Amino acid sequence: MTGKQTVETIVCGDYVVTMNDERNVITQGAVAIDAGEIVHVGSKKDIERNFHSRQLVDGTDQVVMPGLINGHTHAAMCLLRGFADDIPLMEWLQDYINPIEAHAVSEDYVRVGTQLACWEMLSGGTTTFVDMYFFHETAAIAVEEIGMRALISASMMDQPRNDAVDIDDSFKQAEHFVRDWSRRSATVVPIVAGHAIYTLKNEHLVRLRDLAKSLDVPVHIHVSESQFELDFSRDSYGTTPITHFERIGLLDVPMIAAHVVWPERDEIEILARKGVGVVHNPTCNARIASGTAPIVDLLQGGVKVGLGTDGAASSNNLDMWEEMRVASLMQRAQTLDSTVLPARELLKMATSHGAAAIGMQQSIGKLIAGMRADVIQVSIDNAHHLPLYDVESHLAYSSGSRDVSNVFVDGKHLIRGRAPTTIDTNELKLGIQRNRERISSFDSLSA
Ligand SMILES: [Zn+2]
Repeated sequence: MTGKQTVETIVCGDYVVTMNDERNVITQGAVAIDAGEIVHVGSKKDIERNFHSRQLVDGTDQVVMPGLINGHTHAAMCLLRGFADDIPLMEWLQDYINPIEAHAVSEDYVRVGTQLACWEMLSGGTTTFVDMYFFHETAAIAVEEIGMRALISASMMDQPRNDAVDIDDSFKQAEHFVRDWSRRSATVVPIVAGHAIYTLKNEHLVRLRDLAKSLDVPVHIHVSESQFELDFSRDSYGTTPITHFERIGLLDVPMIAAHVVWPERDEIEILARKGVGVVHNPTCNARIASGTAPIVDLLQGGVKVGLGTDGAASSNNLDMWEEMRVASLMQRAQTLDSTVLPARELLKMATSHGAAAIGMQQSIGKLIAGMRADVIQVSIDNAHHLPLYDVESHLAYSSGSRDVSNVFVDGKHLIRGRAPTTIDTNELKLGIQRNRERISSFDSLSA
């Protein structure tokens, strides 16, 4: 008898970037995982001395770090990737996206689109995402089956949709969904969402507040994304969205606010005081010309800021590495300050800060014993990682989705040597093709 503790898995790395508060990077490190939880993080020698594992994942030329957290997306919109590019925002939304969604969105569409999004995100090292789309239960089942972690929103908006007869139905479905799923899954967390201030009547924003309060879940919503939205809010309420939300008590429930490109100066203080989690989607903001969010000011003001990709229809991919880099480039180009959003800060936004922005800082975002085992391995054995002086610099500025070799979510090995273990990609491709044909057959766009 050796007296060693037996664990399911030990994941090794030349470097283990813990993202803990002490900023520990362990050279020749390892992470011991059991029953979905991180049991120990330390040197490989130390772990091998104290633990015996059923599976040992080699760490040669690998970095181990927490899984990335995509704080805002519309997963199933992957099926509209490249469908309508290079068009002004409101025209894009009203003349392309809304009509094609009315035509094509179904349970099959959401199941296939969500599976595709999970495949893409997991392959690129994203282990958690926050979703807002239609047919939330179908999305939740797809994510649960794959084993990925997600906050799935039952969303509300005052517009015709294929998954509800009217907004009363949407509210009813949301309540049922949250109650039904609150303890059903180890990785899927049900929450509620409102699309935006311009797609929900005030009475429904208030009703959303009350629903979130009664169910004790966050509200996920697009906030101050575009000039159109600000104009709408000023015309309708005489003020900007964040101030209006504060007035009606919508910020008294935990909020995951996507975008926040155009907060007023005094609204930054409101966001910090109310503990609103802001999710910055730089690629989407740049691509559809919404503007550059004042991330440096938000961070200095004490606001929790994470990163997101938004849907693939408006950012073309769900690549969190790209979001880190674009976030940094946009802030520096705007502030003319090459010191803002350094590598460490970008990594935090994609992991520990991202977890705080979505209210999950107790369980994910850092490699610490007791947290859930959402762990990725990134290969550094390639030209674009050589030479290596600073591993955090490489992760923020040189690494990409293609470098992710192994992914664990809740201790389950979902990407093994770059291959998904819980997704039948051949079957999925048939579903993608089926939906592509349906989307392509919609010819009234130019009408
Ligand atoms: Zn969005």
